[in-house]
Amino acid sequence: MSSQLTVGGIPIDVVFKDIKNVHLSVYPPVGRVRVAAPAHMSLDTIRLYTIGKLDWIKQQQRKLQGQERETPREYIDLESHYLWGTRYMLDLQEKDQPPQLELKHKYILLTTRPGTDSEKRAAILAAWYRDQLREAITPLFSKWEPILGVKADHCFIQRMKTRWGSCNPHTRSIRVNTELAKKPKQCLEYIIVHELVHLLEPSHNQVFTAHMDRFMPGWRHTRDELNQSPLAHEDWEY
Ligand SMILES: [Zn+2]
Repeated sequence: MSSQLTVGGIPIDVVFKDIKNVHLSVYPPVGRVRVAAPAHMSLDTIRLYTIGKLDWIKQQQRKLQGQERETPREYIDLESHYLWGTRYMLDLQEKDQPPQLELKHKYILLTTRPGTDSEKRAAILAAWYRDQLREAITPLFSKWEPILGVKADHCFIQRMKTRWGSCNPHTRSIRVNTELAKKPKQCLEYIIVHELVHLLEPSHNQVFTAHMDRFMPGWRHTRDELNQSPLAHEDWEY
């Protein structure tokens, strides 16, 4: 059995188990909070318990979010940028023509008009990442919707502060974090499958886990890989 609480604005997943003591965990990358509680314990008791631990929870979250973060990008020559888990170096060129972006061996060749500032370069790169993601997502939906026997009505690609993806089963809408274009492709596939499975089971209960185990047996490995990768600098605060 599982449930959810919100304490001090922080969502907390509660799982009831055949255990004697309460276990409180804060997970990377963003500090998701999970409480494993004895099966007979009331939600009110658990709420009081977590209120007492709120300072500790916030401290852990600050730690995780501080340590795991990538250094901020400046969009300068020879700076590292990732696409699908592979590192590329930015190669900046100036030409009096509309901006152009091209992958060449280990380089992202970005041609802009003379005088283009780093903010504009960031915007061009962000748009390019969205395009890459959009292109990769379409075949994944075509592959997985028939396997799972579900259909999503909308898929949005957006920057999200605390999640890799989300699903609203009522509107059948799935949201995917733009940052996924920087991670290995199996991470995107895992998130798509995870969110589509929410159309079968909205919560993270045993039914959900059973679906994941059945459809994507290696999902835990990919989840852990995703949770270990560094986060974008500016995006991930509560
Ligand atoms: Zn989920």
